[in-house]
Amino acid sequence: MDSMPKTHESTFEFLCKKPYTPPSWAANLNPIPSHVFSLGQFPTPIHKWNLPNLPKGTEVYLKRDDLSGMQLSGNKVRKLEFLMAEAVAKGADCIITIGGIQSNHCRATAVAAKYLNLDCYLILRTSKALVDQDPGLTGNLLVERLVGAHVDLISKEEYASIGAVALTNILKEKLLSEGRKPYVIPVGGSNSLGTWGYVEAVSEIQQQLGKGSGGITFDDIIVACGSGGTIAGLAVGTWLSGLAAKVHAYCVCDDPDYFYDYVQGLINGLQAGVSSRDIVNIQNAKGLGYAMNTAEELIFVREIAKATGIVLDPVYSGKAAYGMMSDMAENPRKWEGRKVLFVHTGGLLGLYEKTEQITPLVGNWRRMDVHASIPRKEGTGKMF
Ligand SMILES: *Cc1c(COP(=O)(O)O)cnc(C)c1O
Repeated sequence: MDSMPKTHESTFEFLCKKPYTPPSWAANLNPIPSHVFSLGQFPTPIHKWNLPNLPKGTEVYLKRDDLSGMQLSGNKVRKLEFLMAEAVAKGADCIITIGGIQSNHCRATAVAAKYLNLDCYLILRTSKALVDQDPGLTGNLLVERLVGAHVDLISKEEYASIGAVALTNILKEKLLSEGRKPYVIPVGGSNSLGTWGYVEAVSEIQQQLGKGSGGITFDDIIVACGSGGTIAGLAVGTWLSGLAAKVHAYCVCDDPDYFYDYVQGLINGLQAGVSSRDIVNIQNAKGLGYAMNTAEELIFVREIAKATGIVLDPVYSGKAAYGMMSDMAENPRKWEGRKVLFVHTGGLLGLYEKTEQITPLVGNWRRMDVHASIPRKEGTGKMF
């Protein structure tokens, strides 16, 4: 209280670039990032998740990466801590990234860019019918547009035929020709540098297990997969650290073979020298397709929210948890007595795009019934 800090720089730990030292077990990965930029609130809590209808003796815990901060940025904060540090080191004056119209990654990047006083350019994929229209303010778009990100819309068809890398390159060349210094972040922030975010998360989990957790160890780590960086980091970190857990991923787009290959590329980029198939088990949880939901999935999200207070997003964690609970119901013997850590990767704003589909699933409202005998006098309840 009475000792005044000498300088602000030496006092505040948030929103600054710091030298990075990897956990000792990751010291042989290569390249090792030189810096990290603190953007999130870490460690995120781990707590028991009292899910209904679990197999006998199964315990599920939640890693609350939905509480990682930066305006609900979920798992993307961990990747951006490394990516933005490199953007700053390279002297970038603007950030380019790309994703779906409700991309949590694009929203997180837009916020991070503005924290660093950088311009942000987003290429967002939408349907052909909507590509010439104002994209509106639903969910992630509201935050992106409030923080002043530049939005370029591209149709799904053009995205599919041109590809994300070429599209970001076109924008990069344009900005370069205008004398700007753009830094490009790939889809989902999932390159080898971004993968460090979840290598670090494993170290964080390890420390949380060491500290006052009553000697708990996890048999399984379960997480959603959309662009592969999160599972790559978790799998490599778990393997290298010797944390005795199996990593299970539920993919919400493409298919498991695609992700085994993509994760292999990320692993090779870190020179980890291991096969993706040996360190992660990937299952399909795509359902109707990326960002599309069945009524059953949304009812599941509602039931889990009602039973536990935990709101899952419909695009990622909702599908992963649905996949996990379906498997537990179908193969209870496989899960009996296991201790499972489910990583909640965030994505709450994605729910706002589903309000129409959710409306018939929620009730619980009525006009309040106040009996005529209750005294009424103008001005009693002051509202303004
Ligand atoms: C991006 C995202 C994921 C998937 O993570 P990847 O590293 O892209 O596989 C999961 N959950 C949420 C909420 C996300 O935004």
